[in-house]
Amino acid sequence: MIVSEDAHRGTAVIDRQEQDSDDLFAVAVQQFDIAADVIGLEDGIRQTLSHCQRELTVHFPVEMDDGSVQVFAGHRVRHSSLPGPTKGGIRYHQSVTINEVRALAMWMTWKCAVVGLPYGGAKGGVQVDPKQLSQTEVQNLTRRYTTEIQPFIGPNIDIPAPDVNTNPQVMAWLMDTYSMNVGYSVPGVVTGKPLELGGSAGRNEATGRGCVFAIEEAARTQGMSLSSARTVVQGFGNAGSVAARLMSEHESPVVAVSDSRGGIHNPNGLDLQAVTRHKQRTGSVLGFREAENVTNEQMLELECDILIPAALEGQITRRNAASIKAKIVAEAANGPTTPEADSILYDRGVLVLPDIFANAGGVTVSYFEWVQALQAFPWSEEQVNERLRDIMQRSYVAVLDTSRKYGVHMRTAALVRAIERVASFSRLRGIYP
Ligand code: GLU
Repeated sequence: MIVSEDAHRGTAVIDRQEQDSDDLFAVAVQQFDIAADVIGLEDGIRQTLSHCQRELTVHFPVEMDDGSVQVFAGHRVRHSSLPGPTKGGIRYHQSVTINEVRALAMWMTWKCAVVGLPYGGAKGGVQVDPKQLSQTEVQNLTRRYTTEIQPFIGPNIDIPAPDVNTNPQVMAWLMDTYSMNVGYSVPGVVTGKPLELGGSAGRNEATGRGCVFAIEEAARTQGMSLSSARTVVQGFGNAGSVAARLMSEHESPVVAVSDSRGGIHNPNGLDLQAVTRHKQRTGSVLGFREAENVTNEQMLELECDILIPAALEGQITRRNAASIKAKIVAEAANGPTTPEADSILYDRGVLVLPDIFANAGGVTVSYFEWVQALQAFPWSEEQVNERLRDIMQRSYVAVLDTSRKYGVHMRTAALVRAIERVASFSRLRGIYP
């Protein structure tokens, strides 16, 4: 269980594999404190930013296909609205807890600040395994959850987006429900929508693409050639599958991929198109004929140059950090590495591209989608990808410079930049009343 001074501020030193998922917010606060110490952040701002500003928990009934009723718990948490409206995805997962959502909301604030978006952070989640539900049940759940959190969201208030197990169709239902409730269409209330409904070109691929832009920059400064770099990707969802494909387009041999059931490994490189077909046919990457099955834990310790954790949080801990072989770890997932593991990797010379930078491509193109929705003026995919590349490149250089300036690893450097930015909003705006 969480050890904390009060319900909303984690204080313990956490190794996530030894704790339950309720501790994730303590991890987020621990990371924040390390960076706040580096810059000597004043106490008032430190106290403010180490709490979440607003939290909503809802319990709501959904009618299932067999006529029975199930009650689900959902949350929407807004960490800080200092920089602007808040932004962040909604996940559907059986292990969602309020503390996990708090951590993810805080990370969204830092993520938006690292890449310079005019948003604070938020996150939502429903505790459900959507793989056990029919499409109709997922739609009913989405519409009722949207209605329950409706007073909390809006195009100038808080703008949801996809996250783990949610997709453009779920965003379309959210947009429709919100619009029906207010009586007119509001495309700017959510991002990650289908293209036809005002979604942005390139949004679906943006998290994976942004992560690969980050890797390109890191490889350049490390003098590593991507065409010979062996890549391992943990997680074959939206972010992981796109990152794997784009790495293979660099001719980087992708030697292992995995999904929630486990992974597959071929040291000579996988044929990703064939893997995708296999997953579509069987429901998992497991059992692919030209590879050996491995567990998700083994995946992380495989021989490789680049490791892309693209699944869930708490994967690289003090237990396995010393066994990671990769030279670059690019976090497409949120929160895959614990603070203890960060120190071990840093001491071993592994370059970690932290989540709040490496997976910021998703929210960056969400921002582009929101701007396009507000202006009712769509951009081409080339414009989207070029602007994304520019933002990722500039942010990488800025984070690297900060890391060198303070002699800290890239996560703390990214946090330092983010906290400085948000703190300056706080100083300029002052405290109301
Ligand atoms: N869920 C994504 C993330 O964690 C995207 C959030 C957004 O686009 O608002 O960054």
